[in-house]
Amino acid sequence: MLLSVDKINVFYGDLQALYDLSFHVTEGEIVTIVGSNGAGKSTTMNVLSGIFKAASGKIIFDGTEIQNSKSHQIVELGLIQIPEARRLFPYMSILENLELGAFSSLSRKAKNETLKFIYKLFPILKERTGQMAGTLSGGEQQMLAIGRGLMAKPKLLMLDEPSLGLAPKMVCQVFEVIGEIQKMGITVLLVEQNVYHSLEIANRGYILEHGSIVMEGEGKELLNNNEIRRAYLGI
Ligand code: ATP
Repeated sequence: MLLSVDKINVFYGDLQALYDLSFHVTEGEIVTIVGSNGAGKSTTMNVLSGIFKAASGKIIFDGTEIQNSKSHQIVELGLIQIPEARRLFPYMSILENLELGAFSSLSRKAKNETLKFIYKLFPILKERTGQMAGTLSGGEQQMLAIGRGLMAKPKLLMLDEPSLGLAPKMVCQVFEVIGEIQKMGITVLLVEQNVYHSLEIANRGYILEHGSIVMEGEGKELLNNNEIRRAYLGI
């Protein structure tokens, strides 16, 4: 197992955001955690990447306990988060933004090779390599953010709502890219409000409601579940 999250509890002051949250990700999988606004998706991501600390519970990544680790240690282990806010540097070029993703020792060595792969995955980034990131469209910026995450040579890539705010065509493209990333041998943890696309692409999924997992199963199986179709897909 690549990632195992065991009964984590997270609080913001008096407010509990996650309740005994447990899930796991096996190497090679796409796993998705879906839920509506405020369900606790971003909190889960931020705990995994060491930005918030859980009050209790255990997180094991690739054999190492990380619930008390600092963010940079977690990155060195290969657990890489692409943040929702897409913190790109708008006044730097596409290439410069990508190069900034290769900060761990492992990723620096593989930099040129990874760059080639990213340009193949996103030809538009190659075409515009010298252009400032701030001039790209929303969808292109999301591609660049994913590219920057890939530059870090992740063992597990975590994406926080990559389809948020994108035009429908771009949404489909982002999900296609996630499939390509899996084919490269990178394991993916995808946190999304876009329940349909996420479950369609994922090997397994978890439904998060009010800080607790209420259902889990294979992606396709959840997609066909009547309760989920009613609650999340309006079918
Ligand atoms: P969204 O899709 O809107 O980002 P989410 O599923 O990612 O939602 P979280 O942002 O993880 O949900 O929020 C979970 C709960 O914790 C919510 O009730 C939210 O109001 C609360 N919360 C989140 N961040 C903070 C914070 N910094 N301080 C206090 N409460 C917070």
